[in-house]
This record gives sequence, structure tokens and C-alpha cells, in this order.
Amino acid sequence: RQAQFRKLRDTPAVTKDGERVALNINAGLMVDLPHLHEAGADGIGLFRTELQFLVASAMPRLSEQRAFYSQVLDQAKGKPVTFRTLDVGGDKVLPYLAHDKEENPALGWRAIRIALDRPALLRYQFRALLQAASGRHLRLMFPMVAEVSEFEAARAMLDRELTRLDKVGQARPASLEVGSMLEVPSLAWQLDALLPMVDFISIGSNDLLQFFFASDRGNTRVGDRYDLLSPAVLSFFRHVVARCRAHDVPISLCGEMAGRPLEAMTLVALGFRKLSIPPAAVGPVKAMILELDAADLSAFLGDKLDRPDRTLRPLLTDYARERG
Ligand code: PEP
Ligand code: MG
Repeated sequence: RQAQFRKLRDTPAVTKDGERVALNINAGLMVDLPHLHEAGADGIGLFRTELQFLVASAMPRLSEQRAFYSQVLDQAKGKPVTFRTLDVGGDKVLPYLAHDKEENPALGWRAIRIALDRPALLRYQFRALLQAASGRHLRLMFPMVAEVSEFEAARAMLDRELTRLDKVGQARPASLEVGSMLEVPSLAWQLDALLPMVDFISIGSNDLLQFFFASDRGNTRVGDRYDLLSPAVLSFFRHVVARCRAHDVPISLCGEMAGRPLEAMTLVALGFRKLSIPPAAVGPVKAMILELDAADLSAFLGDKLDRPDRTLRPLLTDYARERG
């Protein structure tokens, strides 16, 4: 099977009914970069910038951050990279950043919340990213946005950094796209306000599902209790996809669930045309997509999302099995 996946490396992921699905990878360190090309992925859909901070013993300096991002862009060789700004806090604690002990770290002072409270951190990260991407394409997104105002505040900081570039006579990125992650359920009910402001949305299914079911993603006792292929989750996704379509904003999904072929199959049927998955999942997911009739599965799903079943997994498993 490994050899079969390798043969598919240069084959684009297109369903039987002609839908092109972009398969990106999740990454965060230089060692991940070769996988981008080996797996034949379309780009990096989630670059977790906090990993550079987590492996360092002191806050990486501006010059270190800039050199790192610049290397990432060099090695991506023109394939798009979506940098996610710092997602620390929660389970990803920086020893050199003072923080209080929290009762519920996943719900606590983390990600964009820290970035907005300690603006110097985000400002330097923007500066490093903008300098690294000078004259190149830059894609950025913010983690854990729960309210539109948080996106606006971060975006305003980015705009100030862009103006600063002009003042010091440095070239801006050749093009810039700024998006938001959707991993806090509240944001799904603000889409008509948010979508006009963003260039793209990326669902972070790991956190989203932990908040959706109030079920700790790291606790094995409850982690497998709820199924992602439940009508509750899938109809939530259907709502988000419909709003994004209405506003003509591209949507992708990153997170572990999209790396499993049955889950990926279901997401494509719901209208996702962009997934970001672990590198090892690119082959298996691509093989599935080449065999999938997306419109047929959408029709099969029909009103099943509105039924009270606990999960549609058995139905979807049978569907996949009957079609090879
Ligand atoms: C997610 O929450 O789904 C996600 C992609 O981000 P992380 O796993 O880094 O929290
Ligand atoms: Mg997350």
C-alpha cells in the first residue's frame, strides 16, 4: 500500500465526479518540510508556529523567528504555507512566560487571548513573518478566536505593522491573506459579521470538538466518548460551509479527524474542498478521494443529518465498503 500511495504522489486529488480537493499538511518544525514534497501535498494548511517557541529555552528573538519563517518559505518552494500565530497556553505552556496556574487551561489564558493581552509578542511575530515574506506570498491565521472583535484587534495590529514596513522602506509581502481559525463554537454564530473581514476560515476540529461536546481532547476516559461522525457535529459543519459559500469565503479543516479516510470522505461530501492533515494521511486520503463520488454521498447523507442518531459511522462505513 505504501508503494501504491507513493505512485499517487503527483496525481491531484480529484473525486470521480470532478471535484478537486486540496490536500495540505500540518507542520511546525523544519523536519516537517521534506514531508510536504514527499507526500505530494498541495501546501501546508497549518503551520503551528508555537513549536519553535516550545522547543526554545528562552523567547526566540525577532531575528531567530524571521530566519525560521524565511527557511520554511524557502523550503516550501512556492507551495502555500498558512502560518498560525502563537497558540500557547492551555497544554502548551512556555516556561519563560509568566502565567497563573489555571483550573481549566484549555478554557483559559491561551492563544489569541495571550496575544492580545501581551501585544508585544504578537507584534514581533508579525514583524518577523512580514520580513521573512517580503516580496513573497504570506498567509496568516489566528487561533482560538471566540469573538469577531478579537479578529479585528489582531488584524488592526497587523495593519499597523504593514504601515510600519512602508515607513522603514521595506517591501510588503507580494500578497497577503489573513484568516481565522474556527475552533470555538461561539464563532460559528458570528459568521455573517466575521466572513466579510477574512480571506479564509479554517476549522480546528481538535479544539472545536472538545468544546462542542465539553470533552477534554487529552483525556482518554472521555476523548472517545462522542463521535465526530454524529449528526450534531456534521450539521454544525453543514451550517458553517453554507455561510462560507454564501460569503464566497474558502473554508478548510485542519485537525486530526480529516486525516482518517472515512472522516475525510464525509467532509468532502459536506462541501469541504480543502483539508489539512498529517503527512502520513495524504496517501490514504487521496486514494479515497479518487474513488469517491461526492455528489452521490451528499445525496446519500440527505436528511440523515437531521435524524437523532448518535452517530452515522455504521452507515458511512457500509457506504464506503459497498463502493470499495
Ligand atoms: C485544532 O485545534 O484542531 C488544531 C488544528 O490546532 P491544535 O491541534 O494545534 O490545537
Ligand atoms: Mg486548536
